[in-house]
Amino acid sequence: MASFNAEEPKQYEVAGRLLKCLVCGHDHFWRRGAQLNTAAATFFNMDWTNETANCFVCDNCGYIHWFLPK
Ligand SMILES: [Zn+2]
Repeated sequence: MASFNAEEPKQYEVAGRLLKCLVCGHDHFWRRGAQLNTAAATFFNMDWTNETANCFVCDNCGYIHWFLPK
């Protein structure tokens, strides 16, 4: 996996709106991709087990915002 610290936190748009942290309102995030065919997929028992979710981790509080590409 690529080094998590190689990038700078950035602003991202989701559904045409600037993404802001649900917890603290911060607007800079670290982006990560996460395969869902691991523990999460097993936990949720869903059929999108081979999808890759987009994860945006708040640079301020660390809250992870998950999005499934459609
Ligand atoms: Zn936050």
